[in-house]
Amino acid sequence: MAQDIQNIMILTGAGISAESGLATFRGPDGLWEGHRVEEVCTPEAIARNPALVHRFYDERRAKLAEVAPNAAHDALAALDAAWDGDLLIVTQNVDDLHERAGARRLIHMHGQLQSALCAACGVTVPWTASLPPGTPCATCARPALRPDIVFFGEMPYAMDAIDEAVRNADLFVSIGTSGAVYPAAGFVQTARHVGARTLELNLDPSAGSIWFEETRLGPATQLVPDLVRTLLG
Ligand code: NAD
Ligand code: ZN
Repeated sequence: MAQDIQNIMILTGAGISAESGLATFRGPDGLWEGHRVEEVCTPEAIARNPALVHRFYDERRAKLAEVAPNAAHDALAALDAAWDGDLLIVTQNVDDLHERAGARRLIHMHGQLQSALCAACGVTVPWTASLPPGTPCATCARPALRPDIVFFGEMPYAMDAIDEAVRNADLFVSIGTSGAVYPAAGFVQTARHVGARTLELNLDPSAGSIWFEETRLGPATQLVPDLVRTLLG
């Protein structure tokens, strides 16, 4: 596979962190850690019940201390370090496991748990403690810090850089994502349009599986190291 490939774009989702012990988004019961996603992942939810939404993300942020990158994160970091061509890892995850594994060419398109966003002036600041509603912003002094998470209906980060990477890719790989959340779910269609090879690695067939040339089913900790071995020859 590797001979004709120069530029790689990798999209990851909650499934790559599942074997590290972080729950995916929609479990069998349609909940994320006991909450409906509309309760914690929308602008309306944070306006209506800021205490609940802040507490939910405080718990997710605290949980990061109990988990570690797995073999799939490690393999992608090794690929990033060794790959001479262009490479970009775009993650929908808000955990920090890709960077803890050592990935450098990385974009968090849906924000990060360890960052706070000022809803008043728009600055972001690194944040590792809990974040109660009403916490003042160090830049504008307004009590407007919120989790730096892209909620449904909000614009993901770095869409221009991501679009450029997809259009430039010879190989597009999607790992551990249900293919249900746009715009990420549409990247594969752009990749195909520009003639990239498209490969999905997931535990189960996803909503977007039909768009991929090839789907490999299994746990990320097996499929991703296998793929990276092939790519690095
Ligand atoms: P999702 O929960 O909708 O889908 C997860 C996918 O991963 C499913 O298709 C499932 O079959 C697959 N999967 C589960 N275990 C796997 C494994 N061991 N190996 C390979 N695949 C596995 O997640 P999504 O598509 O990423 O979309 C959800 C949104 O939820 C994202 O925007 C993200 O911001 C947020 N989220 C993030 C985290 C995190 O940061 N770890 C966790 C949950 C949700
Ligand atoms: Zn501010």
